[in-house]
Amino acid sequence: MGKIVIFSGAGLSAESGIPTFRDAGGLWEGYRIEDVATPFGWIRNKQLVLDFYEERFLQMQKCKPNAAHLAIADLSSYFDVICITQNIDTLLEQAGVKEVWHLHGRIDYHKCEWHYSIGPIDADWQCDYRAATRSPTQIGDLCPKCNRQLRPDVVWFGEAVDMRTDRLYEIVSQVDAFIGVGTSATVYPAANLLRFFGDVKEKYFIDPNPAYDVLNGFTVIEGTAAQKVPELVAVLKAKYQ
Ligand code: NAD
Ligand code: ZN
Repeated sequence: MGKIVIFSGAGLSAESGIPTFRDAGGLWEGYRIEDVATPFGWIRNKQLVLDFYEERFLQMQKCKPNAAHLAIADLSSYFDVICITQNIDTLLEQAGVKEVWHLHGRIDYHKCEWHYSIGPIDADWQCDYRAATRSPTQIGDLCPKCNRQLRPDVVWFGEAVDMRTDRLYEIVSQVDAFIGVGTSATVYPAANLLRFFGDVKEKYFIDPNPAYDVLNGFTVIEGTAAQKVPELVAVLKAKYQ
């Protein structure tokens, strides 16, 4: 069975009703990124950050997978599909995709605020508590290990991304096709994946407004995810079955 890597960004979920933030001029639902998606924003105003993620939590709970998520799930029953996503929503999982790596965390988990990326550098002072949550995190929801405030399990600007480098090196030479979809490819280090998989023979990129300057060697398909992903999935199934 062939291996296919799908690298997605906010555009994959746009047609499910979750706006991308580049399209809103760098604001995310009216909030400034530095206020709600950086460690400094958290230190300054935890209530504001938790309000923002509560809105995202409730919004994402209402959304359903769109035709692109469902087509990716369909593809994964024919190929070994690995989804690497920058999205914090869980629409790929809801569609039935088994292997999803969330580079920037997940909205339905929370973790200790003394998580290494914000606590002191001394490892003795880090806390690794992380758990699924059924409701948005509130002020006063405390870590059962160390009693500090809990925060959403999302990766903020300036924090470390869980890249699973060992696994990436293990699979890179085995990948038959790479598909990028709905990402402005401006958030690093995630965007480095386009170059990391540069030697893969078959590379596609789907976006209504593709970042052509980083897409050398890609077959670029201009259009929305819900329109174009199902079409590409049909082509791949016909080609390799
Ligand atoms: P981005 O907002 O920087 O870029 C979105 C991209 O999607 C653009 O290239 C745009 O042209 C494209 N797009 C817009 N509508 C589309 C559609 N219908 N179909 C396909 N593509 C479409 O998003 P990014 O590159 O993912 O980086 C944003 C960061 O913001 C990520 O780190 C992510 O964690 C976070 N974010 C997540 C969500 C989510 O979880 N759904 C939503 C907004 C932002
Ligand atoms: Zn803790």
